[in-house]
Amino acid sequence: MHPEPQRFVGFDGQFAVNGRHDDQRPAKVDQSKQTFGATMTIAQMTFPLNETTAIPAVGFGTYLVSEDDAPGAIQAAIEIGYRHIDTAAGYHNEKAVGAGIRAGLAATGLSRADLFVTGKPWPGNPAWGDTPKTGAQTKAACQTSLDLMGLDYMDLYLIHAPYGGPERISQWATLVELQKAGKARSIGVSNFNQTHLDEIRDAGLPMPDANQIELHPWSQKPDLLAYMAKAGIAPIAYSSLVPLSTWRAEAGQDSAKTDAMKADGGVFAEMAQKYGVSEAQLLLRWGVQNGYAVLPKSLNPDRMRQNISLSGFEIDADDMAKICAMDRGESVAWATGDPSVAQ
Ligand code: NAP
Repeated sequence: MHPEPQRFVGFDGQFAVNGRHDDQRPAKVDQSKQTFGATMTIAQMTFPLNETTAIPAVGFGTYLVSEDDAPGAIQAAIEIGYRHIDTAAGYHNEKAVGAGIRAGLAATGLSRADLFVTGKPWPGNPAWGDTPKTGAQTKAACQTSLDLMGLDYMDLYLIHAPYGGPERISQWATLVELQKAGKARSIGVSNFNQTHLDEIRDAGLPMPDANQIELHPWSQKPDLLAYMAKAGIAPIAYSSLVPLSTWRAEAGQDSAKTDAMKADGGVFAEMAQKYGVSEAQLLLRWGVQNGYAVLPKSLNPDRMRQNISLSGFEIDADDMAKICAMDRGESVAWATGDPSVAQ
C-alpha cells in the first residue's frame, strides 16, 4: 500500500547551493572541485570523497532487498536515474545486486564507470560469537564480494561496523592496501565513533575517506560530524527515513525504533506540505542540504522516483533550525542496538 500522491513524483528542478553547513564538509577536499552547480539537479550531484572519487548525493540502499527482488529493483533504480548502489556482504544479496547492475547497465547503455558501487565486508563480532576477520580474511572477503557482484573494483569499500575489536586496525590497514591495489577507489568505515577514528589516527594510518552513519533529524550526531569535518572524513547518511510511519513497517523488518518515535511519525508532514513535497523528500533533502550523501531504499518504483527527485525546493533557514532542535541522539536502525558503541 503506497498512499503518496503522484504529484510528488518526478519533481526535479534546479539545485540551489544554499543552506548547507560548511563546517560539515570534508576538510581535505578542494571546494572548487565540488561537482555541482547552478544547472545541476540533485540526481546528478556528487560529493567528493578523495582527490579522484566523488559519491552521488543520492544512492540506492539495498538492505532488506532479497535475492529475488534485487535484480529487478536495481535495474529499475538505474533506469530511474540512481548511479550509486550501496550493498554489503551482510545483506546476503551481492550476487543478485550484481545481476541487477548488469541488467541496469544493459537497459540504459551505461558503462560500469558510470556507476558508483559501495561494498562492505562483515568484520565479525566477538560479542555475537563471530570471530573478527583478520587482515587476510578481510582481503579475501573483498574478492569474494567482487566475484559475487561480477565487478573488478569497488568505488567505495567500508568496514561495516567497529566490531572487529583486536582486529579492527588490521582490517583498516587491509582496506588501505586494497585501495593501493586498485580494488577500491575510495575506502572508509561505517558506524565508527570518535574513539574508533582516533585509533586509526594513533596507528599512523591514513584516515578514512568516509564514515557511513545513521543520520536523520532524530539522530544528528553533531560532535561526531564536527570531528569528521576536521579530519576530512565525508559523512554518508543511512536510514534517513526513520521518522516515517512507513519506515520498515512490514513484518520482519526489525529495528530499535522506539514507541515514542513511532507515535511522533507525522511531525514532518506540515513542513513537507509547505514545500509541496512528501515527508520522504523533505527528510532526504535535509540530508543532502547538510552535505550528506543519502541512500534511500524502496522497492516501490514511485517512491524510488520520488526519493531521487529532491531539487526544485530548498528547506529554508527557519525550518533547518527547527529540525536542528529535534535531535534525540538515538541510533535505531540496528535491532541489536547502536553499533557505534562497540569497544
Ligand atoms: P531508509 O532507506 O531510510 O528507509 C527505507 C524504508 O522506508 C522502507 O521501509 C521503505 O519501504 C520506506 N520508504 C522508502 N521510500 C519511501 C517513501 N518515499 N515514502 C514512504 N516510505 C518510504 O532505510 P534503510 O534501508 O535502513 O537505510 C537505507 C540504506 O542505508 C540501506 O538500504 C543500506 O543500504 C544502508 N544502511 C547501512 C547501514 C550500516 O550499518 N552501514 C545500516 C542501515 C542501512 P518500501 O521499500 O516498501 O518503499
